Amino acid sequence: MPELPEVETIVHSLFPALVGKTILSADLLWPRTLAVPSPASFKKNIRGQQISSITRRAKFLDLELSSSHLLFHLRMSGDLLVVLGGYQPAVHDRLILQLSEDSRLIFSDPRKFGRVWLVKDPAGIFQDLGPEPLSENFTGSWLFNALHARHRQLKPLLLDQAFLAGLGNIYTDEALHLAKLHPLSRSDSINRKQAERLCQSIREVLEEGIRRNGASIDWVYRGGDFQNHFRVYGREGQPCPVCGTKIERITIGQRGTHFCPHCQLRAKMRYPVK
Ligand SMILES: [Zn+2]
Repeated sequence: MPELPEVETIVHSLFPALVGKTILSADLLWPRTLAVPSPASFKKNIRGQQISSITRRAKFLDLELSSSHLLFHLRMSGDLLVVLGGYQPAVHDRLILQLSEDSRLIFSDPRKFGRVWLVKDPAGIFQDLGPEPLSENFTGSWLFNALHARHRQLKPLLLDQAFLAGLGNIYTDEALHLAKLHPLSRSDSINRKQAERLCQSIREVLEEGIRRNGASIDWVYRGGDFQNHFRVYGREGQPCPVCGTKIERITIGQRGTHFCPHCQLRAKMRYPVK
């Protein structure tokens, strides 16, 4: 499942191929791919719009058009590709946008969880998202306060897109190991120093993921090789890169979670002394 670095990698790869192109027509091969508007209105409104920019917000791709925004969420298995030359639609293609005589943007999605929106203003769709972890707003002191405003376990809280945008299972496990924090620690047990370290660790693993063009797990990315540099994710039974202890795997909220039982101790709850 693509997370922030993988979506960022796709944005970078599509940018030169798409910006400046005009969408001539849309072929919607699986109508439920479209969240809004109706298929008829989508096909009518998108025609003739020029793509002026592509950005990322959380795990959304945001294509800015002449008079609307075309948003994609890839979810489990979605992918976006620009194909040049003659093209025969493949079995998992859900939407094909004709860009010129011989160039198309293909949204393919074997598992059909991905979604597409065509809206005037994306703010309504982004309104429930937490801050971007690579933005200036994401600081150790913001994180400390936000962690203490919740009373939840760290792992599920970090996966919650309303708390922080863009993290998924892989980068959360990697960041918690780098920060030496146990995934089951309570958010309100984290002290300021640990919150600062967690903030830095989240940035570091995401930046490394982007630098390595993402991780290619269950997914064909753009040559990403971060999977060869995982500290804990998918490494159950293998030695921790820091201390050599065997990495353990537990299930938290139905998500496989990998951690080092030696490096990542559970923070002790401290109660205010009255
Ligand atoms: Zn360790």
